[in-house]
Amino acid sequence: MSQFHLSRRALLRGIATGLAAVPALHLGTASAQAPAKLAESDPAAKALGYIEDAAKVDPAKEAAYKKGTRCDGCALYMSAQAKDGYGPCAAFPGKTVAAKGWCRAFAAKPAG
Ligand code: SF4
Repeated sequence: MSQFHLSRRALLRGIATGLAAVPALHLGTASAQAPAKLAESDPAAKALGYIEDAAKVDPAKEAAYKKGTRCDGCALYMSAQAKDGYGPCAAFPGKTVAAKGWCRAFAAKPAG
């Protein structure tokens, strides 16, 4: 009987340990799936003048900028996969860009 008691205790301890590990594994998976936000300091971002807030673009320095344009109006922005104000951009594979961002590769979405 005492052997059964020990086995049951060991089993319960094992279950508790296993359950404790589940959230950690889940968090690890979730963060691995979320693409990183493109940093303005990223060399690829700098090359295209990417900025997180299009309202802060200096038109005197960015001749290509047209007032009111931003990533969520760009054909390269994948709106369907956007979440929390960030979405993938075909110009920066594996990263997300801000919906209100902008870069020199901006191409207006086709009307319609
Ligand atoms: Fe934004 Fe378009 Fe530049 Fe991508 S290519 S960062 S969606 S403006």
